[in-house]
Amino acid sequence: MVNIAKNVEKIRSKVPDNVRILAAAKTRKAEEIIEVVRAGITDIGENYVQETEEVFEKVNRSTDEKITWHMIGHLQRNKVKDALKLYDVIQSLDSFRLAREVNKRARKANIVVPAFIEINSGKEEQKHGIMPDRFEDFIEKIKDFSHIKVEGIMTMGPIFENPEELRPYFKLTRELYERAKKIKQENLDIKWLSMGMTDSYLIAIDEGANMIRIGTALFGPRD
Ligand SMILES: *Cc1c(COP(=O)(O)O)cnc(C)c1O
Repeated sequence: MVNIAKNVEKIRSKVPDNVRILAAAKTRKAEEIIEVVRAGITDIGENYVQETEEVFEKVNRSTDEKITWHMIGHLQRNKVKDALKLYDVIQSLDSFRLAREVNKRARKANIVVPAFIEINSGKEEQKHGIMPDRFEDFIEKIKDFSHIKVEGIMTMGPIFENPEELRPYFKLTRELYERAKKIKQENLDIKWLSMGMTDSYLIAIDEGANMIRIGTALFGPRD
């Protein structure tokens, strides 16, 4: 049996206090998410709108605490309207067209949506995310989107057997994060560097992450 509360404690003990731990909850049942919330993790990440809808009400009803829901998977443009009803943060702003759609829907809903820019730090063709050399250009292009507030940078990085190999990709993302922090722009207020998962979170923190996204080490293996 997986003891979620113990897992939270274990990770918490290895991580500096300023690092926010997000529970990556894809495929998990409402009951498992509720357990992680009771153990003190109130940042929940989901990858799919429909999966989120299946657990959202039940998890929110289970606690008086405010849960912060993060979209961490690729968001399709035709799901943006529904997504804005669920997520407090969109961590996967990965194209200009998506940003434009989020801004448009947020304007209609009269809200400002906190978002992170997702970087394709491995420059992998098949993966989503802004290419590192287009990053500053992307920020410039979205400058008039007043219904988006960019608060962070997120990356996954390539998949390796040995997570040490992720280090250069984390370093690169950190550099972009530091550069973005210096840009003065109305809709930019960069505070979060979201990188590191179960196998790589200590390396990510070493490279400057202040938000980590943990699935397996909290909930056990996905089936
Ligand atoms: C699944 C997922 C994670 C967590 O992965 P684990 O290896 O299970 O910790 C983090 N970020 C994203 C975007 C994910 O999809």
